[in-house]
Amino acid sequence: KKTQRLDKVLGHLGYGSRSDIKKMVKQGRVILNGLVLKDSGMQCNPYEDDIAVDGERITYREFIYLMLNKPQGVISATEDHRDRTVLDLIPAEFRVFSPFPVGRLDKDTEGLLLLTNDGQLAHELLSPRKRVPKTYEAHVLGEVGEREIALFRQGVTLDDGYVTLPAELEVLEHMNGEAGVQSRIRLTISEGKFHQVKRMFMAVGSRVIYLKRISMGPLVLDDSLALGSFRELECAEVELLK
Ligand code: URA
Repeated sequence: KKTQRLDKVLGHLGYGSRSDIKKMVKQGRVILNGLVLKDSGMQCNPYEDDIAVDGERITYREFIYLMLNKPQGVISATEDHRDRTVLDLIPAEFRVFSPFPVGRLDKDTEGLLLLTNDGQLAHELLSPRKRVPKTYEAHVLGEVGEREIALFRQGVTLDDGYVTLPAELEVLEHMNGEAGVQSRIRLTISEGKFHQVKRMFMAVGSRVIYLKRISMGPLVLDDSLALGSFRELECAEVELLK
């Protein structure tokens, strides 16, 4: 990796404009490889050099990968004129990298959402050609069983005439709620049509009342992540996704 101007690197990390950074440098607040920096236009290698601002070491990377346990009520987008978005759940030190959600979960869907600024990886994961499997857990009305398992395996016709690819349905349990029998299920689909899981159950005469994504390709939601919290992917997880 080649060198860059230090003010550009700090600018990218959200430390302000070139003149803000010049001021910080003048105040002696920026250290490069153990020496107080004199010239904010100095070349540095942000991946290898030791850079600190106000005594805090900076970690520079090109790409970030965040696993979020999305709660209900937030939108899978980078901005929205009305509602909170998943980016509102991410602190500024990560937002400076401009992450965006890889695919969408409905406002009322919970669970695994990958946020990254790695456009190529996002593109590959979302490419219909790649058929990346996504697994959901859901509560649906009625007693789902062998009939639905067989229908989903064959493919069902959605309300717009689209026939789904084979999907794997597993019935985890039947529950007796106030509104009658419900089923807790796990469904793996290899495509991502708009509201696909909900529409698949509509196609077999049922209705999803709770939906949570638990995996996307090799990436599995960390069950120690509370709703609304996130963590960076480990290197090994990023490698698995590539
Ligand atoms: N299918 C849906 O219906 N909603 C989601 O959020 C994801 C998959």
